[in-house]
Amino acid sequence: MSEEKERHISRGSGEEDVAARQAFIEEMGTGIEWIKKDPYPGEVVKGNIENYIGTARVPIGLAGPLLIHGDHARGEFYIPLATTEGSLVASYNRGMRVIGESGGCRVKVFEDHMERAPVFRFASLEEAERFTRWLEENRDVMDTAVAKTTSHGRLTEVDVFNLGRNVYVRFGFHTGDAAGQNMVNLATSQVCRDIAEAYPGWEAVESFNLASKFCSDKKYSQVNVLKSRGKKVTAEVEIPDEVLRERLRTTTDVVLDNFLSGTLSAIYAGCVSNGFHAANGIAALFIACGNDPANVAESHADILDLRPSEGGLYFGVTLPSLIVGTVGGGTSLPTQSECLSILGCKGGGNALKFAEIVTAVVLAGEISLVGAITSDEWVGAHEKLGRNRPRDSG
Ligand code: NAP
Repeated sequence: MSEEKERHISRGSGEEDVAARQAFIEEMGTGIEWIKKDPYPGEVVKGNIENYIGTARVPIGLAGPLLIHGDHARGEFYIPLATTEGSLVASYNRGMRVIGESGGCRVKVFEDHMERAPVFRFASLEEAERFTRWLEENRDVMDTAVAKTTSHGRLTEVDVFNLGRNVYVRFGFHTGDAAGQNMVNLATSQVCRDIAEAYPGWEAVESFNLASKFCSDKKYSQVNVLKSRGKKVTAEVEIPDEVLRERLRTTTDVVLDNFLSGTLSAIYAGCVSNGFHAANGIAALFIACGNDPANVAESHADILDLRPSEGGLYFGVTLPSLIVGTVGGGTSLPTQSECLSILGCKGGGNALKFAEIVTAVVLAGEISLVGAITSDEWVGAHEKLGRNRPRDSG
């Protein structure tokens, strides 16, 4: 057997293939006792992983209760957060306590659609313009195409962005309770095939690409913040002065001064938004609940609106591009579906509720961090809860 062949990883999904890959690593001298523990049967991880060798264990902490007055999430929720970052759960927990003592937060979903954006390149500006007009007048071709590929997906938007001979089309879909990226891939591919058949000037298309960067998949982008990709959700709370003082050891004036300086520095530094750390809570919830952690890239943009209110502080946060699902992706995996169950969000009919909960969690995290920063407790809390000097460094 050549050296090349010996180094080849077995590709199958049967138990013997898993064992062969584990042995392959162990024969190289690395023990993987924990990775191998309690493996999932092949049918459980089918569709979620290739070349399976075992499971990464991320600790799950529980925070709450979080009192939410949403359109879909109503009442007190206990929040599972999967993270290896010490102090994260404690900080979110504190923010949730502040929200509870302030009477709970209100939450609303303003937009709900997933995008895919092909690009069509034409031989002339005139042809590009002609195609743009045709798209405006032939929406039925696209609606019919979508219905061929999904029973849950529905075309809601066809936004055209012209750039000379290039026509970028952002197709927006309602995707039910799925985050929807696979669903819209399939649907957009069918839409483009049907457009190619129905459009009389198709021979003028010089090139075509199903996924331009205009849908900004797994990337932050201004167009996603402006037009939304996923769900646009706002959570808000009015925090009374005494709660600010007792729980966060700060005041409205100090928080607002920090907010103004922080927003200025965010602009100056070219940050994507004026929020503090939405990515922390979103990543921990996504990992716990089987939502793709890579979608933190789009979802983490958070726009804060802080101002004085009667007897306290108005604290609002908007996530313009939150990508979540309670169906599809990793949501059916065992621990992930248990975490969704803790939230009462398992399965169909729960995506909007989950989106509201995620946004309320982000609000709690922003409140807690602004308290820690303005009362100068931030560094101390991390020193106490979040330092892990290497255990085997001698
Ligand atoms: P999916 O698991 O590919 O599809 C969802 C499936 O659930 C569909 O077959 C849908 O049926 C079905 N379904 C059943 N009940 C539903 C309900 N109540 N609402 C909506 N759908 C329901 O999931 P996806 O959300 O489309 O894809 C998400 C995953 O794709 C994420 O993990 C994401 O990271 C990954 N991803 C893929 C790409 C890509 O380009 N392929 C890119 C980025 C990310 P019908 O549609 O048949 O009705």
